[in-house]
Amino acid sequence: MIRCALSAMLLALLTIAPCGADDRVEYPTGYTDTPFLPGDRWRVHDDARPRPRIVEPGTAGISAQPGAPPSDAIILFDGKDLSRWVQRGRGGKILAPAWKVENGYMEVVPGTGSHKTKEAFGDVQLHIEWATPAYVKGASQARGNSGVLIMELYEIQILDSYENISYADGQAGAIYGQYPPLANASRKPGEWQTYDIVFEAPRFDGNQLAQPAFVTVFHNGVLLHHRRQMMGPMRHKAPSEYASHAPELPLLLQAHGNPVRFRNIWARRLDLSDP
Ligand code: MG
Repeated sequence: MIRCALSAMLLALLTIAPCGADDRVEYPTGYTDTPFLPGDRWRVHDDARPRPRIVEPGTAGISAQPGAPPSDAIILFDGKDLSRWVQRGRGGKILAPAWKVENGYMEVVPGTGSHKTKEAFGDVQLHIEWATPAYVKGASQARGNSGVLIMELYEIQILDSYENISYADGQAGAIYGQYPPLANASRKPGEWQTYDIVFEAPRFDGNQLAQPAFVTVFHNGVLLHHRRQMMGPMRHKAPSEYASHAPELPLLLQAHGNPVRFRNIWARRLDLSDP
């Protein structure tokens, strides 16, 4: 209740704040001039779209030690090194990884590029633990921003969404620019949080889309998306559409200027054909 009230107060303050050279200009809480989503009443990043309701999550993944992965999981990051990762430089150039590794986590180093796995995946189950900076700086999309880009394209947003007003389709766990999460299950800044994701890769017949991507997402054990059909790759301030690509592509963690941390990242390849 207190968080709801605080959120409402914050929203009211932001709404009446003059638009000078302040954070509101650079990091708006949403947009009123972007294109409409296809066949929808909401614009991309619509400032008027209702924010997801707040759900206090349980304790999944909150312990100091990450839980052990299933026996058939591919360990992508075990807290020790970035041997399974590369950095995506300008123009997609592949560079050596440059994020900090210490105390069992990796941390985005502002100024470096996004990092992606050497291994490529199609249909996949993912487990990722992340934490936004404990020291709160910035507002809206400038606060604890990162993202899980499955196949380097399809983003599940990472954001510090704890008492942080930002557009609904850019909240933590949003399918960025498309669908808000069903809930805001965010923990406080600096606390470890979990994503458990089931992703069904899109299928292409030549250049034609044969089947779109579907995604199921849990955040700290709370369901955010139930086999949600994705509109296409992540786009900022524009509707998305599919373009054909390889059946398997790397998993990418987004560098967005904020020192977000990650630990305990694993994947399970899925065979979703009927047994
Ligand atoms: Mg992001």
